[in-house]
Amino acid sequence: MQTYLSHLECSLCSAEFPYHTPRFVCESCGGALFVSYDLSKASRTLSPARVKQRGVSLWRFREVLPVQHEKNIVTLGESMTPVLHFEKTGRKIGLPHLYVKDESMLPTGSFKSRGMTVAVSKAKEFGAHTVAAPSAGNAGGALAAYAARAGMESVLVVPRDTPEINIAEIRQYTDHLYLIDGLIHDAGAVIKKGVVESGWYDCSTMKEPCRVEGKKIMGYEVAEQFNRVLPDVIVYPTGGGTGLAGMWKAFEEMETMGWIDEKRPRMIAVQSSGCPPLVRAWRRNAETCEPYNPAWGFQTIASGLRVPKPFADRLLLGILKKSRGSAVEVSEDKIKDAMRYYAREEGLIFCPEGAAAMQAVCDMKERDEIKEGESVLVYNTGSGLKYIELLRREE
Ligand SMILES: *Cc1c(COP(=O)(O)O)cnc(C)c1O
Ligand SMILES: [Zn+2]
Repeated sequence: MQTYLSHLECSLCSAEFPYHTPRFVCESCGGALFVSYDLSKASRTLSPARVKQRGVSLWRFREVLPVQHEKNIVTLGESMTPVLHFEKTGRKIGLPHLYVKDESMLPTGSFKSRGMTVAVSKAKEFGAHTVAAPSAGNAGGALAAYAARAGMESVLVVPRDTPEINIAEIRQYTDHLYLIDGLIHDAGAVIKKGVVESGWYDCSTMKEPCRVEGKKIMGYEVAEQFNRVLPDVIVYPTGGGTGLAGMWKAFEEMETMGWIDEKRPRMIAVQSSGCPPLVRAWRRNAETCEPYNPAWGFQTIASGLRVPKPFADRLLLGILKKSRGSAVEVSEDKIKDAMRYYAREEGLIFCPEGAAAMQAVCDMKERDEIKEGESVLVYNTGSGLKYIELLRREE
């Protein structure tokens, strides 16, 4: 086990901090902290060929993951996820190079496990006793599962109208689940109090630096699976944005190590019309999001996208701009139709978040925002089977 972890760096003001003790957000500006590595040293033992020999575990990228000692790794077997060629759909919509990265078979049924295996491992390394986070759905189950595996307590606070399965799932892992009348940021306020008063270890989205590290492995895998020529377009359902930020970070790290050139995919953030703060900000050409107001008719079936104001909004909008990408919204009805359509057409039950991303590709192709010859990678971020209310409604 060898990590080339060097320090933490603020994603907004570039302030640097050592990472020998738990740290969460930037002490000078409150921005999200990113883990930095000595990449020139890391690239001596980490190479695409070496990675290939190490099997399929996320931890095969140990040099660029932040855990010092192998004994602290808390894993449920996070393996590389498949990239499926959507040939039939591609033919229909005029995109012969259309691919789906299917994250649905990861532990706990969503890609949240990528972030939590790393965050909980680091928490264990720091000797944390209780990890805590607010959640809109899948993050809660993933955190509680890894905490159980590590022998830690976990505290989760979720909105009362979070999908049934997410609540039932969390209750299997822990007694400390609290339902609140409100949204994810209201849940966040409860967690903040516990962090200050009871010493809980905060695993909130983007306020804990290691979840992005786990999610960035999606970017490393794309390079592996596309033979180091990144797709032209990546379409990603975005809530808090850890995946988007993580993939972008992975691309930068790989370029520094000489694995890929400077070409970047256009990054497309997809949201549902029930909660599209990034899309609204993008259209206004704004640098940050206005909190999306529930009074405007806020309701989305894509629970992973129920984030009225992403904590790292400035960073995310910056990435969309740098990549010459965009933010796109898809209506709730179209999401539901897409779920059933692709189940029948391609044999895959998308989660509503992933279905939104698939639909966004069709809409963008129709508007000529994606061209026929381009390679397009869409993320299915979790299993559609976790959305029992939705599937029942379709009976
Ligand atoms: C959390 C979640 C998202 C959003 O992920 P971020 O990387 O935090 O933007 C998308 N889809 C599903 C299924 C999720 O659980
Ligand atoms: Zn800062």
